[in-house]
Amino acid sequence: MLRVSGGTFKVVSNRSWSVPIAAVKQLGPARTPHVPQAEPIHHYCHAIFTLRVYFTAALRKRTVIIASPLIWCRRMSLETKHRILLLYASQCGQAKAIAEEIAEEAVGKGFVTDVCCVSQVKEFNLEKEHAPVVIIASTTGCGELPETAIKFAEELDSNLPADHYSHIKYAVLALGDSSYSSFANGGKIIDKRFQQLGAKHFYATGYADDAVGLELVVEPWIEGLWDALKDVCQKKEEGVNGHVEKIFDTNDGTLADLDLLRIEADAPTEAENSIISSENIEQNGIVAGPQEHCLVSNWVKSEPPLSEAALNIPTLPVEYLNVKFQQSTDQVSQQDCFSLASNFMVFQVPVAKAISLTREDAVKTALFLELDISKTSMTYEPGDAFSIICPNSRSEVEELIQRLGLADKRDHVVEISIRPNNKKKGAHLPEYIPKKSTLQFILIWCLEIRSVPKKACLRALAEYTSNPCEKRRLQELSSRQGAADYNRYLRDHNICLLDVLGALPSCRPPLSLLLEHLPKLQVRSYSAASSSDFSPGKLQFVFNIVEFPSSPEKPIARRGVCTGWLAEQVTPILKSYESKVTIGDCLSNGFSLPQLSIFSRKNTLFRLPTDSTVPIIMVGPGTGIAPFMGFLQHRQKQRENPGSVFGETWLFFGCRHHDRDYLFRNELRSFQNNGTLTQLKVCFSRDQSKDTSEGKAKYVQHLLKLFAEDVTKMLLSENGYLYVCGDGKNMAKDVANSLTEIVSEKLGVDTLAAMKVVANLREEKRYLQDVWS
Ligand code: FAD
Repeated sequence: MLRVSGGTFKVVSNRSWSVPIAAVKQLGPARTPHVPQAEPIHHYCHAIFTLRVYFTAALRKRTVIIASPLIWCRRMSLETKHRILLLYASQCGQAKAIAEEIAEEAVGKGFVTDVCCVSQVKEFNLEKEHAPVVIIASTTGCGELPETAIKFAEELDSNLPADHYSHIKYAVLALGDSSYSSFANGGKIIDKRFQQLGAKHFYATGYADDAVGLELVVEPWIEGLWDALKDVCQKKEEGVNGHVEKIFDTNDGTLADLDLLRIEADAPTEAENSIISSENIEQNGIVAGPQEHCLVSNWVKSEPPLSEAALNIPTLPVEYLNVKFQQSTDQVSQQDCFSLASNFMVFQVPVAKAISLTREDAVKTALFLELDISKTSMTYEPGDAFSIICPNSRSEVEELIQRLGLADKRDHVVEISIRPNNKKKGAHLPEYIPKKSTLQFILIWCLEIRSVPKKACLRALAEYTSNPCEKRRLQELSSRQGAADYNRYLRDHNICLLDVLGALPSCRPPLSLLLEHLPKLQVRSYSAASSSDFSPGKLQFVFNIVEFPSSPEKPIARRGVCTGWLAEQVTPILKSYESKVTIGDCLSNGFSLPQLSIFSRKNTLFRLPTDSTVPIIMVGPGTGIAPFMGFLQHRQKQRENPGSVFGETWLFFGCRHHDRDYLFRNELRSFQNNGTLTQLKVCFSRDQSKDTSEGKAKYVQHLLKLFAEDVTKMLLSENGYLYVCGDGKNMAKDVANSLTEIVSEKLGVDTLAAMKVVANLREEKRYLQDVWS
């Protein structure tokens, strides 16, 4: 895409090419373009129309986005459009946003797309699909597919013949974060299954890594996709696979492909005033001039060479939502949370107990909460987790409402509709916003307002920013040239929309922009730290309050969305670990118990072995101990059965200080005393002077090495199980590395062979992980 700027076209899309204006002039005067004789007459009309549009717009000094004459000529001879099916499996909206970006770009590349979430199983039918299928899949938890893909994955897993998808040509873009184990596993799961069902790649799988910036892989992958699609479509056309998909855009068979040359001003009216005109292009957009009035602080400051660079900025995202406010009447019922997770059985349960497991001087505060589920039909097993529907911070929402200038509309019902004739592919209403929601409800319960704005969002915000320097900075951060700044300042510091609006006072977006760009507010999951056999009617869990201290980039200290909210909710009933608390105490103090909306999240793999005689090794530092409390409670209850036999039961636990954050120390001692736990191995990373039986081990992976002999015996000779829970970023990887070293040493084999042994353990589901960030 190009912008007209004086005598040159400058590239403003994230695909790079630029053409001197002379090249376009060579095409001849506006009304008499050179068109090859062989071209059908409608192509003449198309060419004349498109050039006229361009020149009229240029005369009016309006911004024009125009395709390369080369591509344009090539497209002139293209008589058919091929269809592609774009499927996405999104957790936080990344995969969806990428799929939509591909769909938008596809139009200009001569394809028509159907875009579907994999959960919309009625919208597509892979059994009869002959168009190329492009799948964008996120990864969540410990290498799982997003919740939206569960049904899809189940169907792929059902008993299908090996050639079931042999008619399918497909490509996968797998998203993940290499800081966690099972990198990009969501995409890998789909890929593997498609292969097993006979589908064939038409393009190599891309693995995009959020740890270094998804765009490093996403952008080149998309760039290469078009040629691969052309090839596969051509092959199909040539009859290699017999089935040809030709789709004409219009009923009469002509190509209504006017977006090859499109005036940006046909975008929404609100944005119209802020479109860069050819008069102010020099100072605003493409090549920056002196920036005397720029804000000079933190990430807001634009510095050379970026401030002087020509920018490849993404195409302006299509605005597709209309918002109307309706004064609330008494009939508008108070929204409830049940509508926010309509696919799940949501239970509203009281918090019956809240205990701080850590001392006040601990680095992190760990809270233990007990939920009373006795009046619900909720069931769970040790190893399962559950999810909490949590709200954004009310004060942040209020700040946002004020900043958007919508204080008088706080309690108004927001009516959202699709803009008629918008050009967004597959535009649909955000399904996670219940009908008749008030503004406040939407911002509190529906949108992840803490998310780092994506580049498309920054690009859209730039259109609503009147100060040229602020606008330029947003364009920079959304541009290809600004990728390093985007990562260094925005991503690494988790700058959210409120931070952006706080730093750029002239940026005044409409609510519709937030609804179009902010992802769904995610539920937060927690592992059950109890057994329902041992603690009937109760569901216990433990979490660290996530704290984000202030920094020059983010002057306001914040807490995690869910853990901050939970901590606030339970403050009135919170007790210390040493005090003996009963639910009666809480009630008699006159507090009403906080209520949480939860639903269950099963983990059918992370289970105690069915054969109780095999040894188990549990590795769970910090709050990673949660599921093992459930395992141990369960085992203690089972031990009441006469004649039951249990294998060795080891727990490796780690924390910083013995006296400050040794979670559940009394309970663990008691499990040890009654024989439920055969070995408890603990290390203290900041109490190195403390003389424990575990010597000077700092972290759990060191403990494992100290007991390498026992570990290998239990795992390799006695068919034992290894469970790892907690921090997925470092700990889980370190444990895996230690295990490989141990195996290598004890079996006397090289690292590669040891890795195979460890991989086998995973394959046999005897090395199981439950890890999170
Ligand atoms: P969020 O607000 O979501 O912040 C989380 C992360 O976002 C931070 O770590 C950071 O990377 C980033 N971030 C957000 N804002 C900022 C900012 N301003 N500055 C810097 N970084 C920022 N957790 C437990 O404690 N116990 C458990 O038993 C447990 N079990 C889990 C089981 C499963 C299956 C899964 C998937 C997760 C589990 N988790 C558990 C993790 C838990 O779901 C939450 O992710 C965690 O509690 C943090 O939630 P939050 O909303 O408070 O933090």
